[in-house]
Amino acid sequence: MPLSENNILFYWTAPEVIFMRYIPDHDLHIHSQLSPCSSDPNQTPAAILAYGIASGFRLLSLADHCWDRDVECPCNTWGPMTDAMSCLPLPQNKRCHFIYGIEADMNQFNVLGISKEHAEMLDFCVIATNHMHLYGFASNPEIHGYGAEERARRYKERLHAVMEMDLPFHKCGLAHFTTGLVCEKDPMSWHAYFSDAELKDIFTKAAKLGMGIELNFNPDSYKGRDLITILRPYLIAKEVGCKFYFAGDAHHPGDFYGMRERNERIISLLTLEESDKIPFIPETIAKLDAGGDSLGKVGLLK
Ligand SMILES: [Zn+2]
Ligand SMILES: [Zn+2]
Repeated sequence: MPLSENNILFYWTAPEVIFMRYIPDHDLHIHSQLSPCSSDPNQTPAAILAYGIASGFRLLSLADHCWDRDVECPCNTWGPMTDAMSCLPLPQNKRCHFIYGIEADMNQFNVLGISKEHAEMLDFCVIATNHMHLYGFASNPEIHGYGAEERARRYKERLHAVMEMDLPFHKCGLAHFTTGLVCEKDPMSWHAYFSDAELKDIFTKAAKLGMGIELNFNPDSYKGRDLITILRPYLIAKEVGCKFYFAGDAHHPGDFYGMRERNERIISLLTLEESDKIPFIPETIAKLDAGGDSLGKVGLLK
């Protein structure tokens, strides 16, 4: 039927066809017992896969902390990648694929702890720029006494530094943008030093690079204005065309509880549609459904 005033009702009655709600069918940031901040003997790949199956997920990715020894760091905190990869290959399920990634950290000199070559080898890579509570590693010890304004300035510098790097951004995600770790003494304070224009600039760069934006917060933990403060960066990111993925950042099996509901609430608050999802997710699920390989599945490590 040709489009005309006569069939305008079509547009009113079928929005769900055109705008499909985001399906939270994944978790791309999960720690296993190999992360020192977990060290939980119950946080095994098998337990993580069971969580993915029980949640109806189609894709899971590990994100243990490590530092690629191909990248020099005078102030290292994390163990080598080879240790983090000792869990490979990961258990698999026909419906719920389990891929392999790490959480790559940035040190106080704005150097990222993964080489381009190794980032290419991973299935997915979560990039953390804001572990600024790790004094002596991610932060110079002097920052301990600094307030929100200086911390926000450094955080912005670190975000821009990542965007200048040569990385396979289509399978990289920007971790927990709104974490209170930027200024753990007053976790909401630093937001005031990020203007809308500055956020727009950062997220426009991320959108152009195709870098995923991680949704990793519990909306129920914030009340009133604080919730608006937390949502503002993500709404700006969405406005400039960024794509998103969900991350539970679980360290223990107890952290899995209520994750799917939490994510549904974020989808409602940000009115996310399926087109707001990073293409990496549906593409990877399709590839693995068709019998393709992933690092998580085959474990290519020497
Ligand atoms: Zn983190
Ligand atoms: Zn993490």
